Amino acid sequence: MSEVDKLVRKNVRELIPYSSARDEYEGDMGIFLDANENPYGTMNRYPDPHHKKLRNAISRFKNVPQENIFLGNGSDEVIDLCFRIFCNPGTDKALIMTPTYGMYEVAAAVNDVEVVRVPLDETFNISIPSVIPLLHDERLKLVFICSPNNPTGNSMESNDIELIINSFKGIVLIDEAYIDFSLHPSLSQKIMRYPNLIVMQTFSKALGMAAARIGIAFASSEIIKYFYRVKSPYNISALNQEKAFLKLAERGTIANQVRTILQERERLIDRLNKIVSVEKVFPSDANFVLVRVKDADLIYSRLLERGVIVRNRNRIIRNCLRITVGAPEENSKLLNELEKIDL
Ligand SMILES: *Cc1c(COP(=O)(O)O)cnc(C)c1O
Repeated sequence: MSEVDKLVRKNVRELIPYSSARDEYEGDMGIFLDANENPYGTMNRYPDPHHKKLRNAISRFKNVPQENIFLGNGSDEVIDLCFRIFCNPGTDKALIMTPTYGMYEVAAAVNDVEVVRVPLDETFNISIPSVIPLLHDERLKLVFICSPNNPTGNSMESNDIELIINSFKGIVLIDEAYIDFSLHPSLSQKIMRYPNLIVMQTFSKALGMAAARIGIAFASSEIIKYFYRVKSPYNISALNQEKAFLKLAERGTIANQVRTILQERERLIDRLNKIVSVEKVFPSDANFVLVRVKDADLIYSRLLERGVIVRNRNRIIRNCLRITVGAPEENSKLLNELEKIDL
């Protein structure tokens, strides 16, 4: 049994996966009488369960071999599959560093997995002295690191991340949803070196395809095989696979949009720093900024009345709002409305 096999739940290791009609015969020429489809129409055929065409395009776009890529129905599915593959309900644990993305806890709760919460330090970086001793717990199977982190916006130190990967026998999942807005390189090129590393990205942010629900996991081919065995057979619709495939041909447009968003982020930070009700603008490596204001609940509802919707994070980080960088005119509207509010 390999090191990866040992990390996988026994029932998953022994699973005989569902074999669909599209698994048994994979060619695209011929008379298809194998899947009980209607022979008429354009949406009549089941989509490719192995996402071959899209994975091949992602492989070239991200410079990661196709066998090291899994596609989920959004990152949400990737997160859920991690629990289902690696954590025994009712006994195993997952570690998160707070404040962070809320879906890790929800997926843990759905899968009846206990969450170990370790606060980030005062600069929202990983508190290595708090995390390292917890990694020796036999019941701890998953560690989530969100970098750049939502909702704080900062990237974690790569030395800290690699120290955790090296110190932990279980799976480390790096959530890189915002990596395209960051100055830090992706860890996707390190999956060959670390068999316990999963790097997650998404079509929902820089690629502008949130509606298509496509999440990406990069990992060793062994881990990728388990993802494909456990997922539901047709987890990504043909429409979404096709739209995502076409999007990857728009490299120039994507790069231009990211450049504009980053310029707007700097303008936003600059202007926010001059507004009286703003107490602190946290540094951002993502397409949003975390802002501490005098009274987050009040400012949130004032903005709402003016038709500007931001994310009120007051209950998670005192008096903080998370503001997405929008189009230039949207950002200007936000700034104008904020300037009018005097407390
Ligand atoms: C937005 C976001 C995602 C993307 O989730 P999808 O299900 O792929 O849309 C993943 N992780 C974090 C931290 C995010 O903020």
